[in-house]
Amino acid sequence: MEKRAVFDEERCKGCELCIEVCPEGIVHLAGHLNRKGFHPATVTEQERCTGCMFCARMCPDLAITVYRPDKRAAGA
Ligand code: SF4
Ligand code: SF4
Repeated sequence: MEKRAVFDEERCKGCELCIEVCPEGIVHLAGHLNRKGFHPATVTEQERCTGCMFCARMCPDLAITVYRPDKRAAGA
């Protein structure tokens, strides 16, 4: 399995902390709104995700899970 960051958009409040910490600059706010009325964060280029988990560690709402092929799923 590829490294990838999966965002639970219904838990996201659009605070943008994950966007600021992503070293690859691949996290952005989606154009649509979630059920809470926020633009949810999402990864636009999964193939560039390094699995560093910075985003998952930063998220105050535990909305991000990072999968790495050599590790157990972490971050939630
Ligand atoms: S795991 Fe790292 S590279 Fe991947 S989206 Fe999160 S902060 Fe960016
Ligand atoms: S840090 Fe969490 S709550 Fe904030 S924008 Fe990112 S996914 Fe959403």
